[in-house]
Amino acid sequence: MQSPKMFIFCRNFDFPNDDFMILQQSVSLKSYNTFGIDATCRYFVELKQRDDVEKWVAMQQQSHDPFFILGGGSNVVFQQCIEKTVVKVSLRGIEAVKEDEGNVWIKAAAGEIWSDFVDYCVENRWGGMENLSNIPGTVGAAPVQNVGAYGVEAKDVIETVECIEIATGQWKRLTNAECQFGYRDSIFKQAFKNQYIIAAVTFRLTKNPKLQLSYGGISSRLEREGIEQPTIADVSRVVHSLRVNKLPDPAIIGSAGSFFKNPIISHDKYAVLLQHYRDLVAFPFEESFKIAAGWLIEQCGWKGRQLGRVGVYPQQALVLYNLGDCTGEEVKQLANAIQQSVKEKFDIDLEPEAIFIE
Ligand SMILES: Cc1cc2nc3c(=O)[nH]c(=O)nc-3n(C[C@H](O)[C@H](O)[C@H](O)COP(=O)(O)OP(=O)(O)OC[C@H]3O[C@@H](n4cnc5c(N)ncnc54)[C@H](O)[C@@H]3O)c2cc1C
Repeated sequence: MQSPKMFIFCRNFDFPNDDFMILQQSVSLKSYNTFGIDATCRYFVELKQRDDVEKWVAMQQQSHDPFFILGGGSNVVFQQCIEKTVVKVSLRGIEAVKEDEGNVWIKAAAGEIWSDFVDYCVENRWGGMENLSNIPGTVGAAPVQNVGAYGVEAKDVIETVECIEIATGQWKRLTNAECQFGYRDSIFKQAFKNQYIIAAVTFRLTKNPKLQLSYGGISSRLEREGIEQPTIADVSRVVHSLRVNKLPDPAIIGSAGSFFKNPIISHDKYAVLLQHYRDLVAFPFEESFKIAAGWLIEQCGWKGRQLGRVGVYPQQALVLYNLGDCTGEEVKQLANAIQQSVKEKFDIDLEPEAIFIE
């Protein structure tokens, strides 16, 4: 028997088709990336419904033109002229699909704004995503790099990912295991890279949340506020406030958030580094150690510095930011310079988390 609540529709997927998919030429991407880079693309198309997705996929199978799938543009660095069709995924809709005693399964379309969706779940007391509050971007991109913050990753709550294979037009529903999630990684960055459009993600959320408070100062902030039995709303509020103090607001300062991944090094290498740097910031990770990339960058003297019109954020060395009208090339130059410094000083390769689009 299905619970009647199963049919609660938060925002229906089937709203009227008043905007047809339009292919535009030579479009500025400035308002489509949080770095605020004023690049242009050859063609731009926005997919607002499943129909649009299927139509564009059919067109693509004929043209074989180069393309890039875009969500909210918060993890990308555009180079100046992109000789590709930029395909913006703007499908909307949130729906409760299933419910039992302890859980609720919520399906969200790829174009939903991630942070609004998380807030919506928190308001409804559906637990599991509260630590992922206030991350920019869209729902559809969350499985791609398995977004994570404050000890929680999207993989902890994703049940299935619905996507279409561009080459065949076939729809698939991947299970969590099939997505092959890893640290800022998934099958969509590996074997399925640039081959699928994600249309919707279903999340399994809990009505009896187990809070994750041990990362990034959440518990100490709650203690200071005198909150002994925090709710998911408390955790979400604290995460919002911690992030505001640490990260630039993309509406004011252009950035792609954390620019590099935290590198993972062996036990032996960690032991050697620790001998030289007693204040090394590192966390055990599986059989290895994850080193704070921000700490490495700071040790190389980059915090607060700038190169051209790009800076290293003074409050958090892991963030590169736009000092005003910077180009993708300038971002690349600063990123390269930082990678080189870290390699020379620590013999560690920093891998960008942000994606360069040429
Ligand atoms: C201030 C700031 C803070 C941030 N903090 C965090 C953080 O705490 N944790 C974290 O993990 N990330 C963080 N990020 C990075 C970013 O928010 C995430 O990577 C986010 O998931 C990107 O979403 P997007 O919609 O903007 O994706 P985009 O930047 O548009 O695209 C990212 C990748 O996903 C692919 N993609 C997007 N949508 C689809 C789709 N529908 N189908 C198939 N592929 C798709 C793109 O092709 C691209 O490869 C931060 C960024 C900023 C600017």
